[in-house]
Amino acid sequence: MNSESDVLIVIDVQNDFCAGGALAVPGGEAVVELANRLGRRFANVVLTQDWHPAGHLSFASSHEGKAPFETTDMPYGPQVLWPDHCVQGSAGAAFHRNLDIPHAALVVRKGFRLEIDSYSAFFENDHATATGLGGYLRERGLSRVYLSGLATDFCVQFSALDAREQGFETTVIEDACRAGDNEEIDDRYLKKLRGEVYRVETDDGTKARMLNLDGMRERLYRFLAEKFV
Ligand SMILES: [Zn+2]
Repeated sequence: MNSESDVLIVIDVQNDFCAGGALAVPGGEAVVELANRLGRRFANVVLTQDWHPAGHLSFASSHEGKAPFETTDMPYGPQVLWPDHCVQGSAGAAFHRNLDIPHAALVVRKGFRLEIDSYSAFFENDHATATGLGGYLRERGLSRVYLSGLATDFCVQFSALDAREQGFETTVIEDACRAGDNEEIDDRYLKKLRGEVYRVETDDGTKARMLNLDGMRERLYRFLAEKFV
């Protein structure tokens, strides 16, 4: 057991993704308390922040005749167009006021290039432009990644898959996440993660249970021992 190699990554717990925000994830603010509690169990915590310049090309308002949630073709592939959200320095881009993980050592800001969006905490949507997070984790010797935050079906999912692909042992703490679209989550999200990424629920922070049990029971016990006992 070496919890020194564990890192909790809290994805995009920002006002615009919570109730009343420009791109609110249903129940998004509900992850705050659990993220805080999990944060206290991890010596190493990284926060991410969606951080767009005004006029960002992921905004529908930057494309004449386009409405939010339509898609457009970018040089790197199809891109969903969003309402304006998480504009640099705005109240909507700020972390939720109750997020309380003061020992988080790094804030990764992503999506700050005008012409490219970034769902993943590791790579922008061209899957080539690195945010630097992978290098940071490697240099710090952090090899086991636990993910929480918003939204399960976009930034958490893409971050989890990239973490795994980068060689980090990766676990999504699912009750510490909320999805934008709960209807589609089984089809689009769970199938992609299957076999790649561990999935757990913490049962309100008191104990953990694995959601994908295939051959992963040992991992569950380790997780329980380290984080919730
Ligand atoms: Zn964004």
